[in-house]
Amino acid sequence: MATPPENARAFELLRDEALACTACRLSEGRTQVVFGMGDPAAELMFVGEGPGAEEDRQGLPFVGRSGKLLDRLMAEEMGLTRESAYIANVVKCRPPENRNPEPDEIAACEPFLMRQIDAVRPKVIVALGKFAAHTLLRSAIPITRLRGNWGHYQGVKLMPTFHPAYLLRSPHEKAKAWEDLKQVVVALGRQLPAPGGRQG
Ligand code: URA
Repeated sequence: MATPPENARAFELLRDEALACTACRLSEGRTQVVFGMGDPAAELMFVGEGPGAEEDRQGLPFVGRSGKLLDRLMAEEMGLTRESAYIANVVKCRPPENRNPEPDEIAACEPFLMRQIDAVRPKVIVALGKFAAHTLLRSAIPITRLRGNWGHYQGVKLMPTFHPAYLLRSPHEKAKAWEDLKQVVVALGRQLPAPGGRQG
């Protein structure tokens, strides 16, 4: 889908604003702001937690171990590439030592995420892990209960699922994430990829 020029311009301005942001303490330790990547007119948007070390180094979301798994999930379970989606995080700067983002840091960064979602206007959002799900759904229900159940963010369908980092630690939970992502493919009106490509 083509991005109207005024939308693309708004998106660029938003990115510039984020790159200059010092609204919370995470700005002090960052190497780079990890704004987001992908198609700004994507039908599908993934929202993760926050950059890790590799993301902070490259300035791109999900380029470390979790990102490799996300790429595989997209390819094998959804038949999609990361370029066809838009990927962002709840916080745009790396929390020190990969600690969890604090509530005030999430609140400070939230306007960027809201405006990204508003600009992309995806058909479906996938919230990866509890921080994305809790922030977007305004819920405190554990991700183990939220996942697999459709919610909404400002009229956009939202599927909460496990974070890829959690799946790396708990591979026995992968099957549940597969199911969640299949629901997303169906909601997008796309074909499910032929089974057999998965490597565990
Ligand atoms: N984990 C996240 O939540 N986001 C990233 O960009 C990388 C790892």
